[in-house]
Amino acid sequence: MIQPEFQQTRWTLDDLLPAHEGPELEHILAELERQVAQFEASRERLSPDIGQDEFLDLMRLYEVIYVKLVRLGGYAQLWFSEDTQSQAALGFLGRMEQLSTDVQNRTLFFSLWWKGLDDEPARRLVAASGDYAYYLESLRRFTPYTLSEPEERIINLKDVNGPHALVKLYQMITNRFSFRLEVDGETREMTRDELAAYVRDPSPEVRAAAYRELFHVYGDQAAVLAQIYNHLVRDWASENVTLRGIASPIAVRNLGNDIPDPVVDTLLDVCRKNMPIFHRYFRLKARWLGVERLRRYDIYAPVRAADKTYPYPEAVDMVLTSLDRFSPALADHARRVFVDGHVDSEIRPGKRGGAFCAGVLPGVAPWVLVNYVGKTDHVFTLAHELGHAVHALMAGHHSALTFHSALPLAETASVFSEMLLNDRMLAQEDDPAVRRDLLARVFDNAYATVARQAYFVLFELKAHKHAVAGATADDLSALYMDNLREHFGDAVELSDDFRWEWIAIPHIYQTPFYCYAYSFGQLLVLALYRQYRQEGASFVPRYLKILAHGGSHSPDHIISQAGFDMASPDFWQGGFDVLRGFLEELEAL
Ligand SMILES: [Zn+2]
Repeated sequence: MIQPEFQQTRWTLDDLLPAHEGPELEHILAELERQVAQFEASRERLSPDIGQDEFLDLMRLYEVIYVKLVRLGGYAQLWFSEDTQSQAALGFLGRMEQLSTDVQNRTLFFSLWWKGLDDEPARRLVAASGDYAYYLESLRRFTPYTLSEPEERIINLKDVNGPHALVKLYQMITNRFSFRLEVDGETREMTRDELAAYVRDPSPEVRAAAYRELFHVYGDQAAVLAQIYNHLVRDWASENVTLRGIASPIAVRNLGNDIPDPVVDTLLDVCRKNMPIFHRYFRLKARWLGVERLRRYDIYAPVRAADKTYPYPEAVDMVLTSLDRFSPALADHARRVFVDGHVDSEIRPGKRGGAFCAGVLPGVAPWVLVNYVGKTDHVFTLAHELGHAVHALMAGHHSALTFHSALPLAETASVFSEMLLNDRMLAQEDDPAVRRDLLARVFDNAYATVARQAYFVLFELKAHKHAVAGATADDLSALYMDNLREHFGDAVELSDDFRWEWIAIPHIYQTPFYCYAYSFGQLLVLALYRQYRQEGASFVPRYLKILAHGGSHSPDHIISQAGFDMASPDFWQGGFDVLRGFLEELEAL
């Protein structure tokens, strides 16, 4: 029997807000106004010798205000995601963004005061601030780069209609794209997600056609999309490097991630050095496919001729069972996301593409959006997003300011869930051909997560440098092709249409340099997974502890508690060694 909560449906946002208008919203807005006014009134109490209790009271009020903003903002974002063409959702989103900006501006004095405070009183207050400590310490990381209050206000105001507006335009333009592909002699119109499924099609012609159509549609708008990118990148540099004095564009992200620049350099360097592992895999895959050399179109080709599909309820069950075998507590958290109706798994026109998990408030089941079509990959996406949800719920006892894990650790639980699902699927398969297929999928995935994402960041490093110096769309595309040539070496045949791939990657528009967090997370998980295989059950509580930290400590602290040193190239190499193990298993099959 199929449980009703495991049907493929739309989500409900009721746990955030019953409606986008009406008494509940008015009540929240009125209370927010009262609390913000109260917070503003406390301004004169701020001094280096403020009492610890008084300071803690202020932090609590600050958190209450923050919770209201993320509740309203979360509702607006999620509503817009489920229907990006809705004028009402767009209007509400705009209104909430404006509200959030206003509140941020009215409360800005607090973080500015905090960032400008001398070290000694700051240390005293951090020591007394309990769960807020790491949040407060994190704010001070930006102290040397913070401008005066009027300058910060201007930046906030101009951002709404500047870079934020550019990102929104990018989303509106690209979410409206529709793609035409001939499947079984019939031309069909489809969304990007539906099209993306065909890059894994058994037919080499269909795979190539899917990529060509993708880049044809994006390429038609290349001038506009590249121009949007150029503006975003220049704004990033003029604000962060020129005005704030941060050392480099990527250092902005590293500072936010609390990862020292050299650690990221080491990570990217180790990824580059290990590309031969992937080249070896691509040559193996070419043999399986019976071709001389893999084309870029064939990177995700299935190694079986047939591709199995999984009905949605079965996929949900597989994911929950794989979590349950590792830790029943994790499975309970994941189940709750379904029971609370927080999963949007349908395919609908206008719905945002891809997948995400939004952990809005501590202790409230996160919202998970997937576009479930039923391929093996979509089952793993479900495991991935539920991993995020489980991570947020494991950290649900922290404050709203500290329960979100820092970006580089944000992919730990998600990728680990995929590994657990893979284990379970392998355990149920005796057929060597199917086992080979599953192992190859792990490798395909590790490639897409580790190497591909690292190379996006390597591209961004160059693109940010050249865009500021006046690079055109064609210059950036040429840079991208250079990047791809290094990436694939002579193991893969590259065609020119891939020069527009970068304008089809939302992350590099929305969150510059975000992508190394995927490489970081996947390699970390591979290292953790090796530990689990060696250690067995005693590993489980150590792992759960990592998740339960949420974002209440630095990544360094959390990782070193698990016994790893992220400054060491050997640490990252360890993740690749697991991959090499998989590859040798595959070569032997
Ligand atoms: Zn993720």
